[in-house]
Amino acid sequence: QSKQQGGNQYQFYSAVLSIGSLDRVALQTSLHYALERQELQVYYQPKVNLTTGQIMGAEALLRWYHPERGIISPGRFIPIAEETGLIIPIGEWVLQTACQQLKQLHNIGFYSLQIAVNISARQFTQVDFRQKLVKILNTTNLHPQFLELELTESMLVQNTEVAIRRLNALKALGLTIAIDDFGTGYSSLSYLQQFPFDILKIDQCFIRNISENSHNAAITKAIIEMAKKMELKIIAEGVETKEELEFVCQNQCDMMQGYIFSQPLSAKEFKELLISGKSLMMLRSLKNQESK
Ligand code: C2E
Ligand code: MG
Ligand code: MG
Ligand code: MG
Repeated sequence: QSKQQGGNQYQFYSAVLSIGSLDRVALQTSLHYALERQELQVYYQPKVNLTTGQIMGAEALLRWYHPERGIISPGRFIPIAEETGLIIPIGEWVLQTACQQLKQLHNIGFYSLQIAVNISARQFTQVDFRQKLVKILNTTNLHPQFLELELTESMLVQNTEVAIRRLNALKALGLTIAIDDFGTGYSSLSYLQQFPFDILKIDQCFIRNISENSHNAAITKAIIEMAKKMELKIIAEGVETKEELEFVCQNQCDMMQGYIFSQPLSAKEFKELLISGKSLMMLRSLKNQESK
């Protein structure tokens, strides 16, 4: 009898799995056409300097408007793009679009803005990735100092020596390297010290509720202290509340991204935000509290 039950269970699970994989196949197929059908868009989330309150630049974040399903989050389709290799043409398109749109902002007077682009493992390990980057910088006429690449630790730890060599070759072009989602992987900061990063982004899971979660607060403080010793610039990701902002200000983070200032915006909205001159005015009152 128990055998039969087991059989039923198996059927149940396999039915669930095949629905899941059918959906994946359907998404794979439509993702294949998403680029040429112009369903992809690059959104921009402002990065704010925590000393001045000014917008320093933005992170480029991909959005997919599926004709029947509406918006599909990158958390859902980036893994599919990575598995199928579609991330290569899509990632190139993101780089090209982000550099081009940044250049337009430079041309209307926001000439010191930087753009950060997420790079997946598949892209980074391509033999001609550096060459492709150079080509994009040339065709968009963007100086490399304005481009920042966001990488995650998981893509660097497998073949450390090769990864370091690649990073150094990219840095030699003059661009900036950031380690994204820091703290979510398994490697320690001292291990990561051998990689030539410029910026460390503290993952939003540590920032969440930081004024009440002493565990998160302790981890974040330790990360900041070590990053300072390594002379890395620190960005806090996912700052949503005034309390979280207060914490990252008082603990010497250099920059922040988060809903408290702005969600990711379309290119048009980002441009309008820049023109409006909005800055993080709240900083002044936070700084005053600090000195009291
Ligand atoms: P990420 O690079 O760590 O990007 C930060 C994510 O946090 C973004 O989610 C952003 O919208 C979200 N976020 C920012 N501030 C807040 C906040 O205050 N609260 C909350 N709850 N969330 C906030 P998004 O846009 O859904 O992207 C998710 C991930 O997908 C990214 O994580 C990145 O790993 C990947 N991704 C997005 N665009 C690209 C791309 O063009 N290429 C590659 N390879 N990956 C991408
Ligand atoms: Mg990122
Ligand atoms: Mg991140
Ligand atoms: Mg993330």
